[in-house]
Amino acid sequence: MQPTRGAPVRLGPPGPEPQDLGRFGDFGGRYAPETLVAALEALEREFRAAWHDPAFRDEYGELLATYAGRPTPLTPCHRLSERLGVQVSLKREDLTHTGSHKINNVLGQALLARRMGKRRLIAETGAGQHGVATATAAALFGLDCTVFMGAVDVERQALNVWRMRLLGAEVVPVSSGSATLKDAVNDAMREWVATVTDTHYCLGSAMGPHPFPWMVRELQRVVGDEAREQFRALHGADPDVVVACVGGGSNAIGTFSAFVDTRARLVGVEAGGLGLESGRHGAAVNRGVPGVVHGMRSLFLQDEHGQVLEATSISAGLDYPGVGPEHAMLAARGRAEYHAATDEEALSGFRLLARTEGIVPALEPAHAIGWLEREAGRAVPAGSHVLVTLSGRGDKDAAQVAERSGDLA
Ligand SMILES: *Cc1c(COP(=O)(O)O)cnc(C)c1O
Repeated sequence: MQPTRGAPVRLGPPGPEPQDLGRFGDFGGRYAPETLVAALEALEREFRAAWHDPAFRDEYGELLATYAGRPTPLTPCHRLSERLGVQVSLKREDLTHTGSHKINNVLGQALLARRMGKRRLIAETGAGQHGVATATAAALFGLDCTVFMGAVDVERQALNVWRMRLLGAEVVPVSSGSATLKDAVNDAMREWVATVTDTHYCLGSAMGPHPFPWMVRELQRVVGDEAREQFRALHGADPDVVVACVGGGSNAIGTFSAFVDTRARLVGVEAGGLGLESGRHGAAVNRGVPGVVHGMRSLFLQDEHGQVLEATSISAGLDYPGVGPEHAMLAARGRAEYHAATDEEALSGFRLLARTEGIVPALEPAHAIGWLEREAGRAVPAGSHVLVTLSGRGDKDAAQVAERSGDLA
């Protein structure tokens, strides 16, 4: 090992693999057109082999260290803890390259794509965060990159579109359906069917057809594995409560996976939008019903005819009407709890963390902070030790929050 290189991140052992074509209890599976099944089978085989191959793990661990900036610290929050009456520590995914946990997933999938001999990555994106992360990995590996994005989102997220193009990616606006994220997923899957021999579909969360929910969880479990070790070093015990925000569910499942066998309460915080009773939110575990969408059986916001509804949230990263299947299972089994924080509560968490700790969170994990602010001393007893995954930094959201508050008049 050359002394100038960072020590590679030591990955924990692989986690349990879902059986029977990716079943997580009653959820998950592989509901894909015949033309995609062979590609999904090949991906499953390749990922299983790679994930148990010490050479692949070393290379991934080294990339996480030298490129992504891992391990990320665990920050004890003294002033926030005093304010809330519970002991809060933050797992700092906001300090990674590109500013969120998404880099862990895309670096792993890009390595895998290269191992499979693919020369192109495609991805879906809503607000553009996963598109930017994928374009970043593609630039690093010299792969071509095409990102599918709803035409409405292309309008709304001009800066991220520009970033993706700067990184060398092609951005394809999708006009079908509501021209937002769920339509971009459909088009990315369609494109994959047509180009599968030389293209890898780099899916952005722990969702979709098997093997994606399992693979993305495994690529994100480094978040939880590091946090558990760091938390024990800091406090000499596991946390009482582990909290993470849930969009598709990748930062939360990556965190939870290290704690499912502990006595910690696992809490996923969904987008409460304008309130669960308003019907305008993104809380698929709290208010969704089972259905088969985007290649998986899981919980989705649907109308009485089974039509998938649009999600509503102040944070683009939580604006998805479904959730990954492992969360649906953890909820059904009662191993994890899922609550919601409204837009207003997230904004309150956003400001609270900035004022008390000098950390501006992304609006997504601001939901986790906002929920804790509401429940500290109530559902979270005073004095509890709480681990919160801070999935990303708030630079991307600063202008939006300022504008909404009328501060940029
Ligand atoms: C995309 C994103 C999320 C939501 O995605 P998950 O798959 O649920 O983790 C959360 N936080 C940040 C910062 C994001 O960019």
